[in-house]
Amino acid sequence: MHKKKKFETRAIHDGNASDKTTGSISPTITLTSTFEQMSVGNHKGFDYSRAANPTRERYEENIASLENGKFGISFSSGMAATTALFQSLHNGDHVIIGRNVYGGTYRMAVDVLKNHGFEFDFIDVREINLVKQSIKPNTKWIFVETPTNPLLELCDIKSISELCKQHNLKLAVDNTFMSPYGQSPLSLGADIVMHSTTKFIGGHSDIIGGALITNNKQLAEKLYFIQKSGGAVPSPFDCWMLLRSTKTLGLRFQKQSDNALELANRLNSHEKIGSVIYPGLSSHPQFNLATKQQLNPNNQPIYGSMISIKLGSIAKRDSFLNNLELFKLAESLGGVESLVCVPFEMTHGSVPTDMKIKMGLTEDLVRLSVGIEHIDDLYFDLDQSL
Ligand code: PLP
Repeated sequence: MHKKKKFETRAIHDGNASDKTTGSISPTITLTSTFEQMSVGNHKGFDYSRAANPTRERYEENIASLENGKFGISFSSGMAATTALFQSLHNGDHVIIGRNVYGGTYRMAVDVLKNHGFEFDFIDVREINLVKQSIKPNTKWIFVETPTNPLLELCDIKSISELCKQHNLKLAVDNTFMSPYGQSPLSLGADIVMHSTTKFIGGHSDIIGGALITNNKQLAEKLYFIQKSGGAVPSPFDCWMLLRSTKTLGLRFQKQSDNALELANRLNSHEKIGSVIYPGLSSHPQFNLATKQQLNPNNQPIYGSMISIKLGSIAKRDSFLNNLELFKLAESLGGVESLVCVPFEMTHGSVPTDMKIKMGLTEDLVRLSVGIEHIDDLYFDLDQSL
């Protein structure tokens, strides 16, 4: 029996065995749509790249290992991954979803999948009793995001997974905001982890991708089938880029989180800011849960690179945005470069206004995605813009 290698080592080596024919240390990219067959049905394990591709297999092995899972199923976007997960359900099935999940997840559920006979209830999954009360005879999945985008609310993965086991439900966790480096939902009892690999896993704002990771063989087989049937697969080139990106995921995520913690502390005492939302501040209502649940592979608490701040008015928000130089106004997050966005109108544009107001997502809220630039330059940019 080999000892299980540490995260940082698996990031470099899993899926990255040197090339069998040439010894190339960097894996070759198999840029092909199809594969020659020696005779009908007699091939070397690959027949068509929508079904399987060697570079994709390498990347799926790598991402599964980083999430402490056995099976990785990759997709051409985070939304394609979420959609594939819901496509494993049947007409009439009910799903409980965290009320402030990513706006695109809300749109997919409400504007597309509801029309196909799936039922969704969006609830505050911080409240375990509310989750319990929302379970119906046809409930099959609980789908949560923690921390949420952009209010950074947490839910207790371990408690919800125990509830799921009692009621024979499955738990899916969108782990995009923490990456496999900052939180391990499968180890906390979740059945499946979902990622927008567009974010920290890609890490350089140059790829759109998604992934699902599980230890459940039956579920994985279903999802590989949906992946092949639906065809929303990443290209071999994107798989290669992602395989390359995960090698530095730990370094990037740690640095981004360290920068964010320092910035959140400095901003918290800034006179021009109404409030700072960051799970690493002791003023965050779920600071204790964050400290227990969000652990890096060395078991140290880690709070992520996302900070939300409330500026008090739309005028103050817009003046702040106009003054920024380093933080670029853009959708997305998780890259090495710092970004800023206004979720009310950007990432959550498709969520009804009354629902946004109800959950505290206001127009003056600005979301920061902190990169790996020097902390002093980042703070200077924010401070002079305020
Ligand atoms: N989940 C979260 C938490 C996200 O932030 C996003 C995108 O911003 C998605 C899912 C969707 O991923 P993608 O844009 O790669 O389709």
